[in-house]
Amino acid sequence: MYNKITNKLLTLMNKVYGNKNEISLGLARKKGLNSSLKTIQKELNKLSKKETSSLYKEMESYYLNGYLDTADTTRKPIKKSKDKSRHPWSGMNAGQRINMHSTKYMRELTSGIENLIRKGASRASVVSFIVATGDKYSDRLATLYRTELWHMEREGVLDGMKYNKVKFIEYVTRRDNRVCPECQALEEYNDGIYPIEDAPILPRHPHCRCVHIPHEK
Ligand SMILES: [Zn+2]
Ligand SMILES: [Zn+2]
Repeated sequence: MYNKITNKLLTLMNKVYGNKNEISLGLARKKGLNSSLKTIQKELNKLSKKETSSLYKEMESYYLNGYLDTADTTRKPIKKSKDKSRHPWSGMNAGQRINMHSTKYMRELTSGIENLIRKGASRASVVSFIVATGDKYSDRLATLYRTELWHMEREGVLDGMKYNKVKFIEYVTRRDNRVCPECQALEEYNDGIYPIEDAPILPRHPHCRCVHIPHEK
């Protein structure tokens, strides 16, 4: 999504710059800097909406896969997958996070471009700032995807275990040297055994790789 925005903005900035290598902020505004940013804002809003609905669809299918791989049933809890995907499990839901990213991106982009032009930076530095900002937000979006999808799959597995009448789960880390102190502590507490209703929500943080497995007594 941010790559598309970057390309579009670079095209618009070509018009703002014309054949010049440096321009003043006043001239940039006269040549349409503000209206270019407004166009970008509109495009970003549209793309964010699309991105949100496609992420929700993917989240639903990750939940259902986790559930069906675990539960001894072939019945799909469709409604639950929808409710879960919209649930703000980490303080915000995926759609709100995507919107928050978009807002931050626009703010960073606008003030960054204006500051560079004000400081008399070259056209090339403005271009590389636009590209770098787009890349940064693409990475954030990819992390958001990974985190949300991992969460939904783990929720599906957990609900599948509940369907199978599992009463206790074990919290299991990857047991390598990348496990963080928080995850380590959750695995060590009471040997990682929790009543399924109190299972720690996964993931604990982006890049957390922990899972729940059924605890057999
Ligand atoms: Zn961790
Ligand atoms: Zn973890």
